[in-house]
Amino acid sequence: MPRRTRLIIFGRQGAGKGTQSKRLAATLGIPHISTGDMLRAAASSGSEFGQQVKLIMDRGELVSDEVMEGVVRERLAQPDAAGGFLLDGYPRTPAQADFLQGLTAPDGIDLAIDLDVAEEIVIGRITRRRVCESCGTIYTVGDESAETGVCARDGGKVVQRADDSEEAVRRRLADYDRQTAPLMAWFADRDRLAIVDGSGPADEVSATLFKVINA
Ligand code: AMP
Repeated sequence: MPRRTRLIIFGRQGAGKGTQSKRLAATLGIPHISTGDMLRAAASSGSEFGQQVKLIMDRGELVSDEVMEGVVRERLAQPDAAGGFLLDGYPRTPAQADFLQGLTAPDGIDLAIDLDVAEEIVIGRITRRRVCESCGTIYTVGDESAETGVCARDGGKVVQRADDSEEAVRRRLADYDRQTAPLMAWFADRDRLAIVDGSGPADEVSATLFKVINA
């Protein structure tokens, strides 16, 4: 019988969730399923569904649990998810967690991982980020292009995104913590939550994640 690897990953913005999710999924040979990526793809496809979703996302709201049920049910039924998956961005509400439990019954989710990086550290990471307005290259304060404001790659203007201001980041993180706390509790109550320190070098974090999953 194939070993089931049904995983969920949580993490604050700036915690390295994107990088670690990709590595982990590749190492385990399971698909990395990001509901945010799926919805963004739908939005840019211009379909009627995508247009509705885009309106909701642009307002910074959550897509309804009912709509998400359809999206997730369909995606997890794909053959590539039969041996497991790494879900990123779902569940976002306790009702979604209940739905997922039913969908994956009787075994349910093997493990939810909280990639934990302290708030002050992620605020530091995000607020030190600069981006070239024309080619999108990311720089960090201290890099020459960030200091001169001129992109080394194409000469474009290097700026801080409005979204990356400390005030905006603090607001987003507070929203995230408020939204995620009940979910962490949901998985902790069922003894399915692992908190992994994500503050070290990326390779170290990957190794720890792998160990925790195999434990
Ligand atoms: P993300 O990239 O995970 O931050 O998702 C981007 C946006 O997609 C969110 O702000 C929501 O509008 C929507 N979204 C993604 N996942 C979910 C979910 N599980 N439930 C509701 N809305 C979601």
